[in-house]
Amino acid sequence: MLMDRFGRTIEYIRLSVTDRCDLRCSYCMPKGFKGFEEPENWLTFDEIARVIGAFTRLGTRRVRLTGGEPLLRRNLPQLAARLSALPGLDDLSLSTNATQLHKHAEALHDAGVRRLNISLDSLRRDCVSELTGSDSLPRVMEGLMAAKAAGFAPIKINMVAMKGVNDGDIEAMVAFCIEHGFVLRLIEAMPVGDTGRAAHFLDLQPVLARLQQQFGLLPQAADLGGGPARYWSTPDGRFTLGLITPISQHFCATCNRVRLSVDGTLYMCLGQEERFELRPLLRAGCSDAELEAAIREAIELKPERHEFRERPGKIVRIMSMTGG
Ligand code: SF4
Repeated sequence: MLMDRFGRTIEYIRLSVTDRCDLRCSYCMPKGFKGFEEPENWLTFDEIARVIGAFTRLGTRRVRLTGGEPLLRRNLPQLAARLSALPGLDDLSLSTNATQLHKHAEALHDAGVRRLNISLDSLRRDCVSELTGSDSLPRVMEGLMAAKAAGFAPIKINMVAMKGVNDGDIEAMVAFCIEHGFVLRLIEAMPVGDTGRAAHFLDLQPVLARLQQQFGLLPQAADLGGGPARYWSTPDGRFTLGLITPISQHFCATCNRVRLSVDGTLYMCLGQEERFELRPLLRAGCSDAELEAAIREAIELKPERHEFRERPGKIVRIMSMTGG
């Protein structure tokens, strides 16, 4: 197994297949952003399959496809099919803003993707337009319903909860998730990039107390996907809430993941700068054994935790560069 210096097993990799996106969420990619990676530096599907193959041989069993917006990468279902065929890979999932999902839901499900996380911060069309820089809610809804029809389960709604922006929308989102059988995950904004720092941070602990009171939520031990979220459910099981609280209650002690960006950079931590370049090795024709050795060497760099509270100005890169 891949283990870091702090005894944490690295069994999950978040794979960013593009840094491009069709939305400009205010806490992520600034309007007018031009700093995208050159396509010739993107890892090819063959290179991605080699790297993920090496990780699975080293015990990694979960892969999440991310971006930017991953569905902007052409032929993504083909890559998903190759990855889901890798021995040892138990769990292939996708994070998307769902604007393109109505076109790809069936093909992704046929390719072996089983779980979806969908970014949706409000059900108010004007609020979504304001937050994303585009009138995207109708397409997102179309994508959500296509995913439901294609049989994805669970479908999780990722809502970045922000003070004075959409914190008043939480109960409406709970009702929407109960109606459709979706899991709702509330996420605290993180100081990743200037956009992340400008987001109106909302401490989720009081929100949890309020929702526990309203819905009689009970803590869930179940591991709903191997990520950082903690879960609660109603006694009848009709609603499940997840919380991702990197600021008010971080989860670094049990961190099990690293991130691979579109250009082949391995980021050891969302909240730190330690990284390892794999593309030069791949393009120099490294052997599988050399690739595995490089990955082991990279994991040695993994830091203990983020410093979002202590050094909120530290991370300059924006969220879409590492896929969240
Ligand atoms: S901030 Fe870094 S160490 Fe903490 S959970 Fe995220 S990736 Fe892991």
